[in-house]
Amino acid sequence: QLLRDAAANDEEQRSELSLRPQFLREYIGQEALKEELSVYISAAKQREEALDHVLLFGPPGLGKTTLAMIIANEMNVNIKTTSGPAIEKPGDLVALLNELEPGDILFIDEIHRIPTNIEEIMYSAMEDYFVDIMVGQGPTARPVHFPLPPFTLIGATTRPGMLSKPLRDRFGIINSLQYYTPEELQQIVVRTADIFNAPIKSEGAYEISLRSRGTPRIANRLLKRVRDFAQVEGKDAIDKNIVTIGLDKLRVDNRGLDETDHKLLETMIEYYKGGPVGLNTIAANIGEESETLEAMVEPYLLQIGFLQRTPRGRVVTEAGYTHLGHAYQRKL
Ligand code: ADP
Repeated sequence: QLLRDAAANDEEQRSELSLRPQFLREYIGQEALKEELSVYISAAKQREEALDHVLLFGPPGLGKTTLAMIIANEMNVNIKTTSGPAIEKPGDLVALLNELEPGDILFIDEIHRIPTNIEEIMYSAMEDYFVDIMVGQGPTARPVHFPLPPFTLIGATTRPGMLSKPLRDRFGIINSLQYYTPEELQQIVVRTADIFNAPIKSEGAYEISLRSRGTPRIANRLLKRVRDFAQVEGKDAIDKNIVTIGLDKLRVDNRGLDETDHKLLETMIEYYKGGPVGLNTIAANIGEESETLEAMVEPYLLQIGFLQRTPRGRVVTEAGYTHLGHAYQRKL
């Protein structure tokens, strides 16, 4: 489970720091997005203005945080990072905004999770660079007006649908990150292996990339585990064979599906004739939160065409049946 859990834990976050590319030219893939951003960055630099607010969405582990840090480097400004759930009170937000210098970036991960009352404070901050908040309590409470320097808010979210329209409308640059192709992931794996000083064959890197659900974080994680297998087996380099052995042991199949994916698809096929069945029902059956399924499990299964969304619920496709070794019964 840990291998594909899309969120990074603390230890991993520290190790990710050293793996993060620093500039756009080192960031692999997301070509259209990079091209667009580099135009906006150059233009803002020429005008000596803060970059417009940026909203990045896409499944976890695709490189949203990395990109925010790259934008800060390219703009040559400071970046403060936080996350939606960490901002509990208006004062928390003001404290963060207060530290910004002109042009700096405030990065808010999981921005869909900021409380509504704080979201409202964000509107004036984003639009006119000020916040009005109440200071003190009871009879001594008084409104205070805080002017702010021009700054850039970069918000990241895995669930753009959860963002309110007024907040969304205040971002000038809205973009989604796409799953990476195996070729792109292969480059990422080779780059990471290089940083780890772990020799790797190109077919070995490719095999990891096929099993990484289009996601750099998962690719890096699988590489770490495979490196352990290679070391214990006394291999000089990570080759396709050791990747296959290692990932089979970890129960990550040749399309990157793990036990949760298998459980989900098997349950749908065995108990619901492949669907349509509602996400909540599936979640209850396999003992997962439906939010987790929606944000972390389902998107990739939809992307590779093993699952389809219909108005009446989710359906396993013919490709999904075939992959699991079940005979497909065409629905009438
Ligand atoms: P997110 O914020 O979308 O959850 P992160 O930015 O934390 O994802 O990226 C997860 C890991 O994947 C990081 O270690 C990062 O270095 C690596 N990574 C992400 N995108 C790329 C990329 N385009 N090129 C190289 N490494 C990447």
